[in-house]
Amino acid sequence: MALIDRFGRLINYLRISVTDRCNFRCIYCMPKEGIAWKPMEEILTYEQIRDFVDVAAKLGIEKIKLTGGEPLVRRGLDRLVEMLSQIKGIKEISLTTNGSLLKNYAKNLKKAGLSRITVSLDTLKKDKFRLISRLGNLDDVFEGFDALFDAGFENSKINTVVMKGINDDEVIELVEFAISRGVDIRFIEFMPTDTVKNWQSYFVSINDVKRMIAERFLLKPSQKSSNGPAVYFDVENISVGFITPLSKNFCSQCNRVRLSSDGYIIPCLGHSDKIDVKSYLRKGDLEGVMKAIIEAIEIKPKEHALLKEPIHSSMSSVGG
Ligand code: SAM
Ligand code: SF4
Repeated sequence: MALIDRFGRLINYLRISVTDRCNFRCIYCMPKEGIAWKPMEEILTYEQIRDFVDVAAKLGIEKIKLTGGEPLVRRGLDRLVEMLSQIKGIKEISLTTNGSLLKNYAKNLKKAGLSRITVSLDTLKKDKFRLISRLGNLDDVFEGFDALFDAGFENSKINTVVMKGINDDEVIELVEFAISRGVDIRFIEFMPTDTVKNWQSYFVSINDVKRMIAERFLLKPSQKSSNGPAVYFDVENISVGFITPLSKNFCSQCNRVRLSSDGYIIPCLGHSDKIDVKSYLRKGDLEGVMKAIIEAIEIKPKEHALLKEPIHSSMSSVGG
């Protein structure tokens, strides 16, 4: 079976937010004082997530991304990975993390069947890292990179949100760092959310970032395709991706749907519509879960509306 929406898009990729909690307060994601966490009893159990994915896989979902909040602050994530990796039809399970806790968990995640890891990294300078993450320590993230190599992860990626006056002067250094570590890097435009008031003052078009990189490196169009919206170029031993949600939306190729940590299906990051699936999961009503997924795909909009309206919550609660 395949999930095809009203606009002919094949939906085979599911992003699961396993928690809304985080040990950082990144300036592009959360306010300084943080946000009110959802009560623990509202958060899906690993068994409920497994049941959801079991149904989603029968409908055609093949690839899973675990995200958050910070997914590694939720205890026993390797147990979830192991459960999901046994589901027929699931071909890939990847993780997006701020990297700070990777050194504790990379080996077990690999053993459990995790395919790939993306680490968010916006700067190579310790003081700036503190300014951006508000609570993080850059050395922890560097140790996280070591740990993911030691554990044998391949095809790792770096995600960098580029911000005017904050890290737009470090683009070349970040590419050099990715080359030295042999990992791909993707530059992402700042997306507006309700929790960040002055996003326009930070916004940098990724086309400008691409121009900056092209002045220093030869960018060869890459054969590489990702699960998502990045346009890739080969640079030396790595690929560099550019993600332009605002300056050139890629909605016509959207292949994804999201499950929030408190059990809602979110058809589009850029719209506030969501479908409750927790009530079905709690009752063990898998037919209800199937209907909810199909309904979410039916209402998936043609494109986001981020230039008119920001995301009405923090990126940490919708799963980035
Ligand atoms: N905590 C994990 C991390 O930081 O990688 C996973 C969750 S985080 C919400 C997922 C991704 O969303 C990260 O790569 C982060 O940089 C990105 N993100 C958060 N807020 C954003 C914003 N306003 N615009 C663009 N990307 C954003
Ligand atoms: Fe936490 Fe990731 Fe949001 Fe930063 S981007 S505050 S690490 S959820």
